[in-house]
Amino acid sequence: MARGARVVVLGKQGAGKGTQAVRLSRHYVVPHISTGDTFRAAVRQGSEFGRLAKPYLDAGDLVPDDIVIGVVRERLERRDAAQRGFILDGFPRTVGQAEALGEIVIPSELDVVVNLDIDTDTILIRLAGRRVCEDCGTNYSVIENPPRVRGICDVCGGEVVQRGDDTEDAIRRRLDHYERETAPLVSWYARQGLLATLPAIGTPDEVTDRIVGRIHQRWSTQEVTTAASVESQPVPD
Ligand code: AMP
Repeated sequence: MARGARVVVLGKQGAGKGTQAVRLSRHYVVPHISTGDTFRAAVRQGSEFGRLAKPYLDAGDLVPDDIVIGVVRERLERRDAAQRGFILDGFPRTVGQAEALGEIVIPSELDVVVNLDIDTDTILIRLAGRRVCEDCGTNYSVIENPPRVRGICDVCGGEVVQRGDDTEDAIRRRLDHYERETAPLVSWYARQGLLATLPAIGTPDEVTDRIVGRIHQRWSTQEVTTAASVESQPVPD
């Protein structure tokens, strides 16, 4: 089986994190862990946890760190993620969450933190046309890639709808939160040498190729470094 991967995907709302995370999860055969999808599913199921998260989601505000961190920790400790890796989408979103992630997964074990870069005008156009499958979370765009049958998911047959938080007010609040709380993570991960800022424009295939190319580049650099450090070990007498 192909090698797994440990990847964090950062980027503003509408940068295409969800679309790319689904593709990367298939490519590397690792779970796609989306905190947004987890919360939306809990809200749909009407669980206690969903009732707790709903007001934050509806307003476009961040769910408090202690709740989010607990959910992600539990998911990352499951066998599939612990053994093969994961694609983290929408987490971390604050420095507190990044610190908590650093305690669950040693930062040097992350393959890359991808920062999908996009300008705000393009985001606003994308979000207005964004639709999502209620059941499996597949993203569509009414302009660029609508489902084959209107309102029905190509992948699972679920209902394709507009997200409740893709309203003008909630979008503005989410972009504000991004600037204040999530943007600092870009320099945080850059300092750790893990960041790859890549343009989020072009077709989904083009963006995936960029990310995969960067991950493989990193792996080949690591192999060269490891081989060099093995070669430089003193040879026993
Ligand atoms: P997303 O689908 O990633 O845009 O997330 C949708 C909503 O879920 C956000 O606007 C927040 O209310 C909540 N959410 C998702 N991930 C996080 C997180 N890491 N920290 C806090 N809130 C989150």
